Amino acid sequence: MPELPEVETVRRGLEALVKGKTIKQVNVRYDKMVSPNPDEFKSALKGKKILDIERRGKYLIFRFSENLSMVSHLRMEGKYAVLPHTEPLSKHDHVIFELTDGSDLRYNDTRKFGRMNLVPSGKELTVGGLATIGPEPTPETLTFEYLSQRLRSKKVGMKSFLLNQSNVAGLGNIYVDEVLWLTKVHPLQPSNTLTDEEIKALRLNIFSELERAINAHGTTVFSYLNAAGHAGSFQNQLNVYHRQGKPCPRCGTLIEKIKVAQRGTHFCPHCQKLRLPND
Ligand SMILES: [Zn+2]
Repeated sequence: MPELPEVETVRRGLEALVKGKTIKQVNVRYDKMVSPNPDEFKSALKGKKILDIERRGKYLIFRFSENLSMVSHLRMEGKYAVLPHTEPLSKHDHVIFELTDGSDLRYNDTRKFGRMNLVPSGKELTVGGLATIGPEPTPETLTFEYLSQRLRSKKVGMKSFLLNQSNVAGLGNIYVDEVLWLTKVHPLQPSNTLTDEEIKALRLNIFSELERAINAHGTTVFSYLNAAGHAGSFQNQLNVYHRQGKPCPRCGTLIEKIKVAQRGTHFCPHCQKLRLPND
């Protein structure tokens, strides 16, 4: 699933490719992907200009003329591509925004899990997970005070805490494993047992890891591509994710993989020791 660095990379690509362009018409080939219903969706977007593309957590927010916004979540496999309108459609192109300049913005999704919700601007925070989303992982919005208070108010394992978008927006399976390794915290460490020093380090590691990943245009694990069809390269900088059985880059101990909250979870058993609350 694309996480914040991948969605931000998509956003930047879309900004460069379609910002300022006008929609001639929209073709919806999988009705359940859009809201409201396809007829309303198509008639509302006809003739609208794409003013901007923003991001909140893992959600893209398209801003159109006449006070319209569209919240788009790529879920597992969603991708946008900009192609000449004359290019044949592929089987998994489900929503096609035909632009007046002769190009198409096409949304392709092999798993069909992605969703697009069109709402009046200002109402986007009522859509799906945006209604309860936590702070963006930036120094200004994810403060030490917020994070320490939130961690201490819960007694969940750290992997589950960081995956929960209502605690912190944007992190998913890859970056949670990486950030916990950087911070030397076990994925099952109860959130209310982190020391102030660990919370400070965790916060800084979240910022630096996401920044490095954005600079590398995200991680290409399965089929993620940015809007221009390029793969990201951050998979070459991962320390633990998908590295089970390989040596920890810090201490040489073999990386282990366990299941936490139904997610494959990678960690170094030497660097990330589980501390029980009474230790
Ligand atoms: Zn290690």
